[in-house]
Amino acid sequence: MSEPTPAIDAVTAANAAFAAEFSADLAAPPSRQLAVVTCMDARIPVFEAFGLANGEAHVIRTAGGVVTDDVIRSLCISQRALGTTELLVIHHSRCGMQGITDDGFKADLEADLGVKPPWAVETFTALDADVRQSMRRIANSPFIAEKGAVRGFVYDVDSGELNEVMSA
Ligand code: ZN
Repeated sequence: MSEPTPAIDAVTAANAAFAAEFSADLAAPPSRQLAVVTCMDARIPVFEAFGLANGEAHVIRTAGGVVTDDVIRSLCISQRALGTTELLVIHHSRCGMQGITDDGFKADLEADLGVKPPWAVETFTALDADVRQSMRRIANSPFIAEKGAVRGFVYDVDSGELNEVMSA
């Protein structure tokens, strides 16, 4: 017997209603040639908050909006295979990553599971500094060809404002 999945059941029901009204014929390359890297946080309504529509941008979401190796993989494909040229990095206020530490999280995992993860948790405390860190990783990556049009921001989950992070 599998576990109940009430949230997923609600999604499939909502999708049936959505699909009944929906049709689209969009090309895969984002029409605004834009890629967005941001946090998986449930309070960032990316398309609504940033004026984006279906088909216009790639949105790559991770815990913290951290630019990991796998984000570099996605951005490389976004640029080289699908033509994006501008890149937006967005962290946000009251991020869940600010409430944990790498060492603490790994120690908890080891205590519970007997094994530490091979990956870095990549928690952070200072938002602006971590946006700069993410932008430096992009700047330093040989796999990111389009480095000229990269800008970093912090989104405020309470006011909805997007504030640019200036280079230090
Ligand atoms: Zn977050």
